[in-house]
Amino acid sequence: MFYAEAFDVIVVGGGHAGTEAALAAARMGANTLLLTHNIETIGQMSCNPAIGGIGKGHLVKEIDALGGAMALAIDKGGIQFRTLNSSKGPAVRATRAQADRTLYKNAIRDIVENQENLTLFQQSVDDLIVENDRVCGVVTQMGLKFSAKTVVLTVGTFLGGTIHIGLENYRGGRAGDPPSIALADRLRALPFRVDRLKTGTPARLDARSLDFSVMQPQPGDNPTPVFSFMGDRTMHPTQIPCYITHTNEKTHDIIRGGLDRSPMFTGVIEGIGPRYCPSIEDKITRFADKSSHQIFVEPEGLNSIEVYPNGISTSLPFDVQMNLVRSIKGFENAHIVRPGYAIEYDFFDPRDLKQTLETKFIEGLFFAGQINGTTGYEEAGAQGLVAGANAALQVQQKDPLVLRRDQAYMGVLIDDLATMGTKEPYRMFTSRAEYRLLLREDNADSRLTAMGREIGLVDDARWAKFNQKMEAVESELQRLRGQWIHPEHVAAPQLNTMLKNPVSREHSLEELIRRPEMTYSQLMEIESVGPGLEDPIASEQVEIQIKYAGYIARQMDEIAKTQRHENTLLPVDMDFSKISGLSNEVVAKLTEARPETIGKASRISGITPAAISLLLVYLKKHG
Ligand code: FAD
Repeated sequence: MFYAEAFDVIVVGGGHAGTEAALAAARMGANTLLLTHNIETIGQMSCNPAIGGIGKGHLVKEIDALGGAMALAIDKGGIQFRTLNSSKGPAVRATRAQADRTLYKNAIRDIVENQENLTLFQQSVDDLIVENDRVCGVVTQMGLKFSAKTVVLTVGTFLGGTIHIGLENYRGGRAGDPPSIALADRLRALPFRVDRLKTGTPARLDARSLDFSVMQPQPGDNPTPVFSFMGDRTMHPTQIPCYITHTNEKTHDIIRGGLDRSPMFTGVIEGIGPRYCPSIEDKITRFADKSSHQIFVEPEGLNSIEVYPNGISTSLPFDVQMNLVRSIKGFENAHIVRPGYAIEYDFFDPRDLKQTLETKFIEGLFFAGQINGTTGYEEAGAQGLVAGANAALQVQQKDPLVLRRDQAYMGVLIDDLATMGTKEPYRMFTSRAEYRLLLREDNADSRLTAMGREIGLVDDARWAKFNQKMEAVESELQRLRGQWIHPEHVAAPQLNTMLKNPVSREHSLEELIRRPEMTYSQLMEIESVGPGLEDPIASEQVEIQIKYAGYIARQMDEIAKTQRHENTLLPVDMDFSKISGLSNEVVAKLTEARPETIGKASRISGITPAAISLLLVYLKKHG
């Protein structure tokens, strides 16, 4: 039976990718259906209750700049906020917040339920309707068919999911949820390249059984950082600290003693796990000389007794988990509320995707989130937004949304996936971006909000606030360029107390801020100069734009240079073996990846600038 109404966009899965995809498509006016296993788990955090961090915080700000939900939800659900790398340069400063799981989920659900053009339906999707290599809808577990012009699959760790605890294993999508077996089988029958990955999570502990007095408290920052460009700290609930403790030699001995029953070390798990979020058994094996590893003891919520011990993710048997946990300072009497486990699942080679996240083989079918080989809520949310927007744009027969690497971490993420693929769960880092100084958290809105507004992702309220901020920044920059202080100026004596070398000639305020010892807020303390901008976010923007102007200009030059060749096309049938000077390895890599452009070729790992020059010379001769 067909459901009476046909949709423009169907999003399958209500996780982090699915909610952003459905919201994006609906914001753009597409008639959208969010179909998910269980409406109660919309926005559920499968693993650690935290949003942001280095590279990830940047993605959250970008999602927000395009009108997405994640930043607003964490502003409403965050119980400990910090700015990481606060003493470093603005490019790598990153916001991170510990979440109250329930408050976060409720905030996402609230946004989803109040979104116009968005319908919810609870059922498992078992099949896709595909005609002439174009997706036309989906079929649910009870045989109900839904028609749609486009479908976005965001089914996370659920495809063929197998949960491992020691040598025991069973099918599951994550603890407490069923796997997607029928859909996994259906997708495996389509021409996509598929493989297995693995991820894991630690045991959850009962806070009442822990001794926090012997652990080191870690309060959040004061004042608390804010995630959303539309947020403010009055949205934040009560703030509470996290704690720090450590593993010790005894813990490591217990783990070593259990490795013969570890599904990872006995070959039961074949999927590759996240390199940057390894299990504790992985850590003590890989870093055998380390006698201790740090554990962040993170509350799961204001009204929850559960605690997330970040750093001891494990799939060792339960008895080993129990002993290892109790060997840790402060955990001597710990009660485990939920055992740790690993999960193996299917993912699809993202090189089978276009930059829009549409699959290359089935028109109208988009993939986003963990299904593309990534790990993390933020990576999932970012892909979801782009896939949902592109599904809506396709329906509206408009140009796709493709973000470049110099425009957004979202662009870096998708370009890395679609060009290079991944062999292990992919997570974002600032080091993945070539133009870090341009892709800062603080300027995500000036990079993306206008673009989002143009395609309908950004509402009137956000647009008005954005313009107000931009105007304030611009007029303040102009004032700072135009106002001068000379040695006899009334402000000079106070100013000289702040400077290493007193002013000996006339200086604009802009020049003064450029001095390493001077900040915008300091300068504004001078009576005839200040008070300046009231909004700390706008004043931060002014200071960064002035202090880093030289570096920013240099990166812009580099981008212009690279862009000249970025879109130079490589013939589809190009025989790379004919290009003299290329090594066999480079020829093999180019032949496998078949990059469409010079830009894409340059980002394949192992393709050197020298190889690119040879390609360009060849093209010039034979092009
Ligand atoms: P998910 O959040 O998994 O959401 C998938 C959604 O799809 C769910 O709502 C599900 O019910 C629904 N769904 C699935 N199949 C169907 C179907 N057939 N029909 C209808 N609905 C369906 N990330 C980290 O960054 N670090 C970690 O250490 C980490 N550890 C993890 C450990 C475990 C055990 C798990 C399960 C996840 C872990 N993650 C970790 C990953 C993190 O949870 C994911 O990256 C993130 O949730 C992915 O978002 P998603 O939207 O792609 O999928």
